[in-house]
Amino acid sequence: MGGLCDLHFHSVFSDGTDTPEELAALAARTGLSAAVLTDHDTMAGVPRFLAAAAAAGVRAMPGLEISANVPGRTVHLLCYGCDPEERALADALRRVRDGREERNRRIFALLARAGAPVSEAEAAAFAGDGGVVGRPHIAAALVAKGFAADRHDAFRRYLARGSIAYAERFRLTPATAIALAHGAGGVVSLAHPVTTGYNPAELRRFVAELAQDGLDGIECLYTGFLPGQVEEYVGLAAEFGLVATGGTDYHGANKPNIRLGTAYGGLKVRAEAFDALLERIAEKKRIAAKKGTSPK
Ligand code: AMP
Ligand code: FE
Ligand code: FE
Ligand code: ZN
Repeated sequence: MGGLCDLHFHSVFSDGTDTPEELAALAARTGLSAAVLTDHDTMAGVPRFLAAAAAAGVRAMPGLEISANVPGRTVHLLCYGCDPEERALADALRRVRDGREERNRRIFALLARAGAPVSEAEAAAFAGDGGVVGRPHIAAALVAKGFAADRHDAFRRYLARGSIAYAERFRLTPATAIALAHGAGGVVSLAHPVTTGYNPAELRRFVAELAQDGLDGIECLYTGFLPGQVEEYVGLAAEFGLVATGGTDYHGANKPNIRLGTAYGGLKVRAEAFDALLERIAEKKRIAAKKGTSPK
C-alpha cells in the first residue's frame, strides 16, 4: 500500500487536545493511508482510535509512547502493535501513571513553596477526561494564573529538570520497557533521537545498547529534523537492522504549529514504514511460535 502515514501523535488521553475520533477523521481528511496514536504512558485511547480509523478507511494499529529513564535523562520509546489488554504491560503502565500522580503532588508542594501555587484540579482542567495529568498541564495552569508568560517560560522557571519545582518520577528502564512491549506482542522504536541530547558517537553507542535489548526501530523522520539528522538516524537504522519510523508528534492546540501528517507542511513519512512495522511484528510472532513461546 502506498501513500503517507503518521506514526506518532497524541490525544486527550495524554497531552494532546483532539479526541481519538477527531484524530482518525483528521488523518482521513489529510489523506493519510495509515496512522498510529501514541499517547504518553497509556493505551486508554487505543480502542476508540482503532474503531474510528477503521470507519474512516485509515489503517491503524495500537500505539503508545513510554518515557523511560537512563541516568540523567529521559528517553521516549514508541511501542507499536502491543495488545492493550496484556497484563504485564498494563500493570507496568499503571505503576508509571501512579508514579506520575505521586510526583505531581510533590510538584504542587514545591510550587506552593516557591510562591506559585497550583492545585491538582487547576492542572487537571487542562487535561482531557480520564487523561494523564503531566507537566504540560501544570505549565498551562501556571500560565493561566499569571505565574509564567507562556508554557515554555513555565518549564524554564519551574518545571524543567534543574528548575525549582522539578521532581523525579518512577520510570521504566529502556530494557524493561522493550521487554514489556515485546511480551505484549509489539515492537519498539526510539522516539525523536535528538532529544536524548547525545552527540553522534554517544547516540551510536546508546542505540547499540538498545539494539542488544531488542530495539526494533528508530524515528528517522520527525518534525523539524534537519537533513543531516535524518541521514544520521537512517544510517543507524541500516547499521543495526532497525525499522526507520517517522511521525509528527502532533499534539493539537498544545503544539499549534505542528499539523498531523505533515508537521510544518513538508514532512512525508511513506506508509512503507507502517508496513515495515507490521512485518517486524509478524516476524517476531513467527520466531516466538517456532521457539514454542507465545508472545502473549
Ligand atoms: P511529564 O511526563 O509529566 O514529566 O511531562 C513531560 C512532557 O513535558 C514532555 O513530553 C514534553 O511534552 C514536555 N516538556 C518537557 N520538558 C519541556 C520543556 N523544557 N519545555 C516545554 N515542554 C517540555
Ligand atoms: Fe507530549
Ligand atoms: Fe516524545
Ligand atoms: Zn510524542
